[in-house]
Amino acid sequence: MPVEREDSREGLVVLRDRKFIACGGCGWVHYAMTGEEKLALDRGLSRYNLTPAEQYFFESAYRQCLRCEAPVGGFREAQERDFARAAGHVVTPVLIDNS
Ligand SMILES: [Zn+2]
Repeated sequence: MPVEREDSREGLVVLRDRKFIACGGCGWVHYAMTGEEKLALDRGLSRYNLTPAEQYFFESAYRQCLRCEAPVGGFREAQERDFARAAGHVVTPVLIDNS
């Protein structure tokens, strides 16, 4: 049986040692995208030949709460109670500068 190896995790989202943050507005839990993931995202996008405006629009979707669209600027570090609430939803990535 093939075993998933650490160095062959392309395409998989690894949530270990992640920085989790919660929306300041609704408490929805997100995780901070790493610079590496941002690059991968950019590479994926380049396939579609987006205009700069389209690219900005796409990226902005990662700079706000998935649920209430509050900007990531108002996010805070996720607490235990946030995780309890997050148990029922998919944790989504957001882009945070200088993370
Ligand atoms: Zn929110």
